[in-house]
Amino acid sequence: MDPIKARIHRKVEGKLKSITLSRQLIDENQAVIVETLKVKNMLKNRKLSKHIADASWSGLIQKLEYKAKEQGKHLVKIDQWFASSKTCSFCGHKLEALSLKVRDWQCPACLIRHNRDLNAALNIRAQGILTLKAAGLSVSANGGKRQSGHEPVAA
Ligand SMILES: [Zn+2]
Repeated sequence: MDPIKARIHRKVEGKLKSITLSRQLIDENQAVIVETLKVKNMLKNRKLSKHIADASWSGLIQKLEYKAKEQGKHLVKIDQWFASSKTCSFCGHKLEALSLKVRDWQCPACLIRHNRDLNAALNIRAQGILTLKAAGLSVSANGGKRQSGHEPVAA
């Protein structure tokens, strides 16, 4: 395959993967919470990095937005200024700074140990749930499993 064709092929493949991922996320959840513009951090998450490298993060968010609207579901966008990485998800203590190289850290206030990505994800989820609740939606943080009868909007 010549280089131009190969590049187009890669682009199309990346788009298709992004469409599949966004569809899967919206199909399986009543609400999806994403952080905007922190591509540099997100690329360090091994599970997501391949998808993000294939399709731009903002492109993925656009697709999520479209699919969420289509299905009457919720997409909560947490902006880049929310200190998801350097805020302790356990006690709320906020560090002055946290270098990108630091993957694990200990909260000086409550002494709990954090994995950087997991801690950030917990903060983003909590912030997203607050946003959904503020919008008057019933939210149950149960890890994605829907309860029978009463249906929460986010997990
Ligand atoms: Zn803490």
